[in-house]
Amino acid sequence: MKRCENCNEPNPEGWFYCRECGGKTSKPSFTTNMYMRSEIGKRTDIEFSTTTIDEDIKQRNNKIYGN
Ligand SMILES: [Zn+2]
Repeated sequence: MKRCENCNEPNPEGWFYCRECGGKTSKPSFTTNMYMRSEIGKRTDIEFSTTTIDEDIKQRNNKIYGN
């Protein structure tokens, strides 16, 4: 049977928030997953925006020096 990690009350229905103490019943694993997802999202955004800026600069340089 699952148990709350805060107060150790039984949690047979698998509630994310404990009905006894109101805390998170499985904080460590869930927090790690959310952290990993957010970090991947940030890196993806950074890489995407950087590439876009580089391409934008190249296009502007071509226009300036190409004519
Ligand atoms: Zn609890």
